[in-house]
Amino acid sequence: MTQRFEHEIVFGDTTLRDGEQTAGVVFTRAEKIAIARLLVEIGVTELECGIPAMGRDEQERVRALVDLGLPARLITWNRALISDIQASIDAGIRAVDISLSVSDIHIALKLRKSRAWIKEQLKVAIGFAKQQNLYVSVGGEDASRADQAFLRELLQIAKNEGADRFRYCDTLGVLDPFTTFERIATLRRQVDLPLEIHAHNDLGMATANALAGLRAGAQFVSTTVNGLGERAGNAALEEVVMALKHACGVEPSIDTSRLVELSELVSHASKRLVPEWKPVVGRRVFSHESGLHTDGVLKNPLNYEGFDPAEVGLQRYLVLGKHSGRHGLIQRLEQLGLDPSSFNLEKLLLRVRQEAQRCKQPLDDQTLTRLCGVAGSQIFPSGEAPPAGGMAYAFSCSSCSDAFPRDYKHDISGFPAAKTPPGPN
Ligand SMILES: [Zn+2]
Repeated sequence: MTQRFEHEIVFGDTTLRDGEQTAGVVFTRAEKIAIARLLVEIGVTELECGIPAMGRDEQERVRALVDLGLPARLITWNRALISDIQASIDAGIRAVDISLSVSDIHIALKLRKSRAWIKEQLKVAIGFAKQQNLYVSVGGEDASRADQAFLRELLQIAKNEGADRFRYCDTLGVLDPFTTFERIATLRRQVDLPLEIHAHNDLGMATANALAGLRAGAQFVSTTVNGLGERAGNAALEEVVMALKHACGVEPSIDTSRLVELSELVSHASKRLVPEWKPVVGRRVFSHESGLHTDGVLKNPLNYEGFDPAEVGLQRYLVLGKHSGRHGLIQRLEQLGLDPSSFNLEKLLLRVRQEAQRCKQPLDDQTLTRLCGVAGSQIFPSGEAPPAGGMAYAFSCSSCSDAFPRDYKHDISGFPAAKTPPGPN
Protein backbone atom coordinates (compact mmCIF):
# COMPACT_ATOMS: atom_id res chain seq x y z
CA MET A 1 0.00 0.00 0.00
CA THR A 2 1.59 3.26 -1.12
CA GLN A 3 0.17 6.56 -0.02
CA ARG A 4 1.08 9.85 -1.56
CA PHE A 5 2.96 12.47 0.37
CA GLU A 6 3.35 15.96 -0.93
CA HIS A 7 6.99 16.35 0.05
CA GLU A 8 10.17 14.55 0.93
CA ILE A 9 9.69 14.10 4.69
CA VAL A 10 12.17 15.79 7.02
CA PHE A 11 12.61 14.38 10.53
CA GLY A 12 13.18 17.20 12.99
CA ASP A 13 14.28 15.12 15.93
CA THR A 14 13.90 16.86 19.27
CA THR A 15 15.19 14.17 21.64
CA LEU A 16 17.88 16.60 22.77
CA ARG A 17 15.36 19.38 23.50
CA ASP A 18 11.77 18.20 24.06
CA GLY A 19 13.10 14.78 25.06
CA GLU A 20 15.41 16.23 27.66
CA GLN A 21 12.55 18.43 28.83
CA THR A 22 10.89 15.30 30.22
CA ALA A 23 10.52 15.75 33.96
CA GLY A 24 13.64 14.36 35.61
CA VAL A 25 15.67 13.72 32.46
CA VAL A 26 19.15 15.19 32.09
CA PHE A 27 21.67 14.36 29.39
CA THR A 28 25.35 14.86 30.03
CA ARG A 29 27.43 16.56 27.39
CA ALA A 30 28.90 13.22 26.32
CA GLU A 31 25.45 11.66 26.09
CA LYS A 32 24.17 14.55 23.98
CA ILE A 33 27.11 14.13 21.63
CA ALA A 34 26.63 10.36 21.38
CA ILE A 35 22.88 10.70 20.71
CA ALA A 36 23.42 13.46 18.12
CA ARG A 37 26.07 11.42 16.33
CA LEU A 38 23.95 8.30 16.16
CA LEU A 39 20.87 10.22 15.02
CA VAL A 40 22.85 11.73 12.17
CA GLU A 41 24.52 8.40 11.34
CA ILE A 42 21.13 6.78 10.80
CA GLY A 43 20.03 9.62 8.52
CA VAL A 44 18.26 12.26 10.63
CA THR A 45 18.98 15.64 9.05
CA GLU A 46 17.70 18.08 11.66
CA LEU A 47 18.31 18.06 15.41
CA GLU A 48 16.61 20.38 17.85
CA CYS A 49 19.38 20.39 20.36
CA GLY A 50 18.69 22.66 23.31
CA ILE A 51 17.57 25.96 24.79
CA PRO A 52 20.59 28.32 24.92
CA ALA A 53 18.59 30.96 26.82
CA MET A 54 18.74 28.63 29.86
CA GLY A 55 22.27 29.80 30.54
CA ARG A 56 25.95 29.21 30.12
CA ASP A 57 25.94 25.42 30.70
CA GLU A 58 23.30 24.82 28.05
CA GLN A 59 25.03 27.20 25.65
CA GLU A 60 28.28 25.27 26.07
CA ARG A 61 26.54 21.95 25.37
CA VAL A 62 24.90 23.35 22.26
CA ARG A 63 28.26 24.79 21.21
CA ALA A 64 29.84 21.35 21.66
CA LEU A 65 27.30 19.92 19.21
CA VAL A 66 27.90 22.75 16.74
CA ASP A 67 31.64 22.09 16.95
CA LEU A 68 31.11 18.47 15.84
CA GLY A 69 30.37 19.78 12.35
CA LEU A 70 27.66 17.17 11.83
CA PRO A 71 26.01 17.07 8.40
CA ALA A 72 22.65 18.13 9.87
CA ARG A 73 20.82 21.32 10.69
CA LEU A 74 21.09 22.13 14.39
CA ILE A 75 18.16 24.15 15.61
CA THR A 76 17.41 25.53 19.08
CA TRP A 77 14.24 26.39 20.95
CA ASN A 78 13.68 30.07 21.77
CA ARG A 79 10.94 32.22 23.18
CA ALA A 80 10.00 35.10 20.88
CA LEU A 81 12.57 37.28 22.60
CA ILE A 82 15.62 38.89 21.06
CA SER A 83 17.67 37.87 24.10
CA ASP A 84 16.80 34.18 23.56
CA ILE A 85 17.70 34.35 19.88
CA GLN A 86 20.94 36.15 20.70
CA ALA A 87 21.84 33.36 23.14
CA SER A 88 21.40 30.86 20.31
CA ILE A 89 23.58 32.93 18.01
CA ASP A 90 26.20 33.11 20.76
CA ALA A 91 26.19 29.31 20.92
CA GLY A 92 27.04 29.16 17.22
CA ILE A 93 23.52 28.28 16.04
CA ARG A 94 22.20 29.31 12.61
CA ALA A 95 18.63 27.96 12.84
CA VAL A 96 16.06 28.83 15.47
CA ASP A 97 12.61 27.73 16.48
CA ILE A 98 10.85 30.83 17.78
CA SER A 99 8.09 29.59 20.03
CA LEU A 100 5.03 31.63 20.87
CA SER A 101 1.81 30.65 22.62
CA VAL A 102 -1.02 31.01 20.15
CA SER A 103 -4.13 29.74 21.98
CA ASP A 104 -6.35 32.21 23.81
CA ILE A 105 -6.00 30.04 26.90
CA HIS A 106 -2.23 30.47 26.93
CA ILE A 107 -2.37 34.10 25.84
CA ALA A 108 -4.77 35.02 28.65
CA LEU A 109 -3.87 32.62 31.44
CA LYS A 110 -0.15 32.03 30.91
CA LEU A 111 1.22 35.13 29.22
CA ARG A 112 -1.52 37.52 30.39
CA LYS A 113 -1.20 39.36 27.12
CA SER A 114 -3.40 39.97 24.09
CA ARG A 115 -3.57 38.63 20.54
CA ALA A 116 -2.23 42.02 19.37
CA TRP A 117 0.83 41.56 21.60
CA ILE A 118 1.45 38.10 20.14
CA LYS A 119 1.35 39.45 16.60
CA GLU A 120 3.71 42.28 17.41
CA GLN A 121 6.15 40.03 19.29
CA LEU A 122 6.20 37.60 16.40
CA LYS A 123 7.13 40.37 13.96
CA VAL A 124 9.88 41.68 16.22
CA ALA A 125 11.40 38.23 16.84
CA ILE A 126 11.30 37.07 13.21
CA GLY A 127 12.60 40.47 12.07
CA PHE A 128 15.62 40.18 14.36
CA ALA A 129 16.33 36.56 13.43
CA LYS A 130 16.13 37.24 9.69
CA GLN A 131 18.38 40.28 10.08
CA GLN A 132 20.91 37.82 11.44
CA ASN A 133 20.33 35.53 8.45
CA LEU A 134 18.99 32.70 10.59
CA TYR A 135 16.75 29.89 9.41
CA VAL A 136 13.48 30.49 11.23
CA SER A 137 10.83 28.03 12.31
CA VAL A 138 7.89 29.65 14.09
CA GLY A 139 6.62 27.34 16.81
CA GLY A 140 2.93 27.75 17.48
CA GLU A 141 2.66 26.53 21.05
CA ASP A 142 -0.79 25.11 21.85
CA ALA A 143 -1.81 25.59 18.19
CA SER A 144 -4.30 22.74 18.48
CA ARG A 145 -6.38 24.77 20.96
CA ALA A 146 -5.96 28.08 19.10
CA ASP A 147 -8.63 29.94 17.18
CA GLN A 148 -8.14 28.77 13.59
CA ALA A 149 -8.70 32.22 12.02
CA PHE A 150 -6.10 33.73 14.36
CA LEU A 151 -3.70 30.93 13.53
CA ARG A 152 -4.09 31.64 9.85
CA GLU A 153 -3.36 35.32 10.53
CA LEU A 154 -0.17 34.39 12.41
CA LEU A 155 1.00 32.11 9.59
CA GLN A 156 0.52 34.94 7.14
CA ILE A 157 2.53 37.27 9.36
CA ALA A 158 5.25 34.62 9.69
CA LYS A 159 5.41 34.23 5.93
CA ASN A 160 5.43 37.98 5.30
CA GLU A 161 8.26 38.46 7.79
CA GLY A 162 10.34 35.80 6.06
CA ALA A 163 9.93 32.77 8.35
CA ASP A 164 10.93 29.47 6.76
CA ARG A 165 8.28 27.26 8.30
CA PHE A 166 5.57 26.98 10.95
CA ARG A 167 5.50 24.29 13.62
CA TYR A 168 1.96 23.22 14.43
CA CYS A 169 2.14 22.05 18.05
CA ASP A 170 -0.47 19.80 19.59
CA THR A 171 1.18 20.76 22.85
CA LEU A 172 -1.22 18.87 25.10
CA GLY A 173 -1.78 15.92 22.78
CA VAL A 174 -5.52 16.49 22.49
CA LEU A 175 -6.06 15.98 18.76
CA ASP A 176 -7.10 12.86 16.90
CA PRO A 177 -5.69 11.97 13.47
CA PHE A 178 -8.84 13.08 11.60
CA THR A 179 -8.80 16.57 13.11
CA THR A 180 -5.05 16.81 12.67
CA PHE A 181 -5.44 16.03 8.98
CA GLU A 182 -8.18 18.63 8.54
CA ARG A 183 -6.28 21.35 10.41
CA ILE A 184 -3.00 20.84 8.56
CA ALA A 185 -4.70 20.50 5.17
CA THR A 186 -6.63 23.74 5.81
CA LEU A 187 -3.51 25.69 6.79
CA ARG A 188 -1.68 24.32 3.74
CA ARG A 189 -4.46 25.65 1.51
CA GLN A 190 -4.62 29.01 3.26
CA VAL A 191 -0.96 30.03 3.55
CA ASP A 192 2.01 28.98 1.43
CA LEU A 193 4.39 28.27 4.28
CA PRO A 194 5.97 24.85 4.95
CA LEU A 195 4.49 23.13 8.01
CA GLU A 196 5.83 20.89 10.72
CA ILE A 197 3.64 18.59 12.79
CA HIS A 198 4.64 18.41 16.46
CA ALA A 199 2.46 15.85 18.23
CA HIS A 200 2.29 14.78 21.88
CA ASN A 201 1.13 11.43 23.13
CA ASP A 202 -1.24 12.20 26.00
CA LEU A 203 -4.05 10.21 24.39
CA GLY A 204 -1.75 7.67 22.74
CA MET A 205 -2.14 9.24 19.30
CA ALA A 206 1.15 11.07 18.72
CA THR A 207 2.42 8.74 16.01
CA ALA A 208 -0.98 8.61 14.29
CA ASN A 209 -1.28 12.40 14.46
CA ALA A 210 2.23 12.83 13.09
CA LEU A 211 1.35 10.62 10.11
CA ALA A 212 -1.95 12.43 9.61
CA GLY A 213 -0.12 15.77 9.56
CA LEU A 214 2.34 14.46 6.99
CA ARG A 215 -0.46 13.03 4.87
CA ALA A 216 -2.18 16.42 4.98
CA GLY A 217 0.87 18.19 3.58
CA ALA A 218 3.27 18.89 6.46
CA GLN A 219 6.85 18.48 5.28
CA PHE A 220 8.51 18.29 8.69
CA VAL A 221 7.76 15.99 11.60
CA SER A 222 8.96 16.39 15.19
CA THR A 223 10.03 13.15 16.81
CA THR A 224 11.94 11.88 19.81
CA VAL A 225 13.67 8.56 20.34
CA ASN A 226 11.48 6.24 22.46
CA GLY A 227 8.81 8.95 22.35
CA LEU A 228 10.59 10.72 25.19
CA GLY A 229 9.10 14.10 26.04
CA GLU A 230 6.84 16.20 28.24
CA ARG A 231 4.23 14.14 30.15
CA ALA A 232 3.31 11.17 27.93
CA GLY A 233 5.96 12.17 25.41
CA ASN A 234 6.24 13.01 21.72
CA ALA A 235 5.78 11.03 18.53
CA ALA A 236 8.45 8.32 18.64
CA LEU A 237 11.03 8.51 15.87
CA GLU A 238 11.16 4.73 15.49
CA GLU A 239 7.38 4.43 15.28
CA VAL A 240 6.96 7.21 12.73
CA VAL A 241 9.76 5.80 10.56
CA MET A 242 8.43 2.24 10.59
CA ALA A 243 4.80 3.35 10.22
CA LEU A 244 5.73 5.38 7.16
CA LYS A 245 7.53 2.37 5.77
CA HIS A 246 5.02 -0.35 6.53
CA ALA A 247 1.66 1.39 6.90
CA CYS A 248 2.14 4.06 4.23
CA GLY A 249 4.54 2.46 1.78
CA VAL A 250 7.03 5.30 2.04
CA GLU A 251 10.73 4.57 2.39
CA PRO A 252 12.20 7.20 4.73
CA SER A 253 15.92 7.84 4.32
CA ILE A 254 16.68 6.34 7.73
CA ASP A 255 18.84 3.31 8.52
CA THR A 256 16.25 1.36 10.49
CA SER A 257 18.65 -1.43 11.43
CA ARG A 258 20.11 0.76 14.17
CA LEU A 259 16.82 1.89 15.73
CA VAL A 260 17.14 -0.51 18.66
CA GLU A 261 20.72 0.57 19.26
CA LEU A 262 19.55 4.20 19.28
CA SER A 263 16.65 3.34 21.56
CA GLU A 264 18.98 1.66 24.05
CA LEU A 265 21.38 4.60 24.01
CA VAL A 266 18.59 7.08 24.78
CA SER A 267 17.00 4.76 27.31
CA HIS A 268 20.28 4.49 29.18
CA ALA A 269 21.04 8.22 29.01
CA SER A 270 17.53 9.21 30.07
CA LYS A 271 17.26 6.48 32.71
CA ARG A 272 13.89 5.56 31.20
CA LEU A 273 13.46 1.87 30.59
CA VAL A 274 11.82 0.93 27.32
CA PRO A 275 8.94 -1.47 27.98
CA GLU A 276 9.49 -4.88 26.44
CA TRP A 277 6.26 -4.46 24.51
CA LYS A 278 7.07 -0.96 23.20
CA PRO A 279 6.17 -0.84 19.47
CA VAL A 280 9.13 -1.23 17.11
CA VAL A 281 11.95 -1.29 19.69
CA GLY A 282 10.61 -3.27 22.67
CA ARG A 283 12.93 -6.24 23.09
CA ARG A 284 10.16 -8.83 23.27
CA VAL A 285 7.71 -7.58 20.68
CA PHE A 286 8.62 -10.44 18.39
CA SER A 287 7.95 -13.15 20.97
CA HIS A 288 5.49 -15.87 20.04
CA GLU A 289 3.97 -18.32 22.47
CA SER A 290 0.49 -19.44 21.45
CA GLY A 291 0.36 -22.68 19.51
CA LEU A 292 -1.37 -21.13 16.51
CA HIS A 293 1.03 -18.21 16.21
CA THR A 294 4.16 -20.26 16.81
CA ASP A 295 3.07 -22.78 14.21
CA GLY A 296 2.37 -19.94 11.76
CA VAL A 297 5.73 -18.28 12.39
CA LEU A 298 7.57 -21.57 12.02
CA LYS A 299 5.91 -22.09 8.64
CA ASN A 300 6.69 -18.53 7.59
CA PRO A 301 7.30 -15.47 9.79
CA LEU A 302 5.20 -13.41 7.39
CA ASN A 303 2.16 -15.16 8.88
CA TYR A 304 2.42 -13.28 12.16
CA GLU A 305 5.03 -10.53 11.77
CA GLY A 306 4.34 -7.25 10.00
CA PHE A 307 8.03 -6.77 9.37
CA ASP A 308 11.26 -8.66 9.93
CA PRO A 309 12.63 -8.01 13.45
CA ALA A 310 16.11 -7.69 11.96
CA GLU A 311 14.91 -4.58 10.15
CA VAL A 312 15.16 -2.64 13.40
CA GLY A 313 17.84 -4.71 15.12
CA LEU A 314 15.58 -7.04 17.10
CA GLN A 315 15.37 -10.81 17.36
CA ARG A 316 12.50 -13.25 17.24
CA TYR A 317 11.76 -15.39 20.31
CA LEU A 318 9.67 -18.51 20.42
CA VAL A 319 8.45 -18.88 23.94
CA LEU A 320 7.29 -22.01 25.71
CA GLY A 321 4.46 -21.22 28.08
CA LYS A 322 0.83 -21.68 29.00
CA HIS A 323 -0.38 -21.22 25.41
CA SER A 324 2.30 -23.25 23.64
CA GLY A 325 1.46 -26.02 21.20
CA ARG A 326 3.08 -29.15 19.79
CA HIS A 327 4.98 -27.47 16.96
CA GLY A 328 6.73 -24.96 19.17
CA LEU A 329 7.67 -27.69 21.63
CA ILE A 330 9.05 -29.96 18.90
CA GLN A 331 11.08 -27.12 17.41
CA ARG A 332 12.57 -26.23 20.79
CA LEU A 333 13.45 -29.84 21.58
CA GLU A 334 15.19 -30.17 18.23
CA GLN A 335 17.12 -26.96 18.81
CA LEU A 336 18.32 -28.42 22.10
CA GLY A 337 19.51 -31.52 20.26
CA LEU A 338 16.77 -33.74 21.72
CA ASP A 339 14.77 -36.23 19.69
CA PRO A 340 11.06 -35.29 20.01
CA SER A 341 10.02 -38.85 19.12
CA SER A 342 11.62 -40.12 22.30
CA PHE A 343 9.12 -38.24 24.45
CA ASN A 344 5.41 -38.52 25.10
CA LEU A 345 4.75 -35.10 23.61
CA GLU A 346 1.16 -34.75 24.87
CA LYS A 347 2.27 -35.41 28.41
CA LEU A 348 5.33 -33.17 28.08
CA LEU A 349 3.24 -30.32 26.66
CA LEU A 350 0.84 -30.64 29.57
CA ARG A 351 3.74 -30.39 32.01
CA VAL A 352 5.15 -27.37 30.15
CA ARG A 353 1.81 -25.59 30.44
CA GLN A 354 1.40 -26.53 34.10
CA GLU A 355 4.89 -25.31 34.91
CA ALA A 356 4.32 -22.00 33.09
CA GLN A 357 1.09 -21.44 35.00
CA ARG A 358 2.70 -22.32 38.29
CA CYS A 359 5.58 -19.90 37.72
CA LYS A 360 3.51 -17.30 35.80
CA GLN A 361 6.26 -17.00 33.21
CA PRO A 362 7.71 -18.77 30.18
CA LEU A 363 9.97 -21.76 30.60
CA ASP A 364 13.70 -21.50 30.15
CA ASP A 365 15.67 -24.27 28.46
CA GLN A 366 16.96 -25.74 31.69
CA THR A 367 13.48 -26.13 33.08
CA LEU A 368 12.37 -27.78 29.87
CA THR A 369 15.19 -30.28 30.01
CA ARG A 370 14.36 -31.01 33.63
CA LEU A 371 10.78 -31.76 32.62
CA CYS A 372 12.17 -34.00 29.90
CA GLY A 373 14.09 -35.90 32.54
CA VAL A 374 17.37 -35.11 30.83
CA ALA A 375 20.39 -34.24 32.95
CA GLY A 376 21.42 -30.61 32.54
CA SER A 377 25.01 -31.59 31.75
CA GLN A 378 23.81 -33.47 28.68
CA ILE A 379 22.45 -30.25 27.21
CA PHE A 380 24.50 -27.54 28.85
CA PRO A 381 28.20 -28.25 28.51
CA SER A 382 28.98 -25.68 31.18
CA GLY A 383 27.48 -28.12 33.65
CA GLU A 384 25.04 -25.59 35.05
CA ALA A 385 22.34 -27.39 36.91
CA PRO A 386 18.77 -26.56 35.97
CA PRO A 387 17.31 -24.12 38.50
CA ALA A 388 15.08 -25.66 41.13
CA GLY A 389 11.47 -24.99 40.36
CA GLY A 390 12.30 -23.32 37.06
CA MET A 391 11.87 -19.87 38.54
CA ALA A 392 14.54 -18.19 36.42
CA TYR A 393 12.98 -15.75 34.02
CA ALA A 394 14.22 -16.56 30.59
CA PHE A 395 12.97 -17.13 27.11
CA SER A 396 13.78 -20.11 25.00
CA CYS A 397 16.84 -18.28 23.82
CA SER A 398 18.81 -18.57 27.06
CA SER A 399 21.55 -16.22 25.86
CA CYS A 400 19.01 -13.39 25.86
CA SER A 401 17.86 -13.77 29.42
CA ASP A 402 19.95 -10.92 30.79
CA ALA A 403 18.11 -8.26 32.71
CA PHE A 404 17.58 -4.93 30.97
CA PRO A 405 19.49 -2.70 30.56
CA ARG A 406 22.30 -4.81 29.28
CA ASP A 407 25.83 -3.51 29.19
CA TYR A 408 26.10 -0.57 26.90
CA LYS A 409 28.45 -1.13 24.03
CA HIS A 410 29.26 2.40 22.90
CA ASP A 411 32.65 3.49 24.05
CA ILE A 412 32.59 7.22 24.58
CA SER A 413 34.57 9.30 27.00
CA GLY A 414 32.54 10.60 29.88
CA PHE A 415 29.78 8.05 29.40
CA PRO A 416 28.89 6.37 32.66
CA ALA A 417 29.92 2.79 33.19
CA ALA A 418 27.44 0.14 32.22
CA LYS A 419 24.40 -0.10 34.49
CA THR A 420 25.48 3.02 36.42
CA PRO A 421 22.85 5.73 36.08
CA PRO A 422 24.21 9.00 34.68
CA GLY A 423 24.50 11.65 37.35
CA PRO A 424 23.95 15.35 36.90
CA ASN A 425 26.92 17.36 35.72
ZN1 LIG B 1 6.53 19.56 22.57
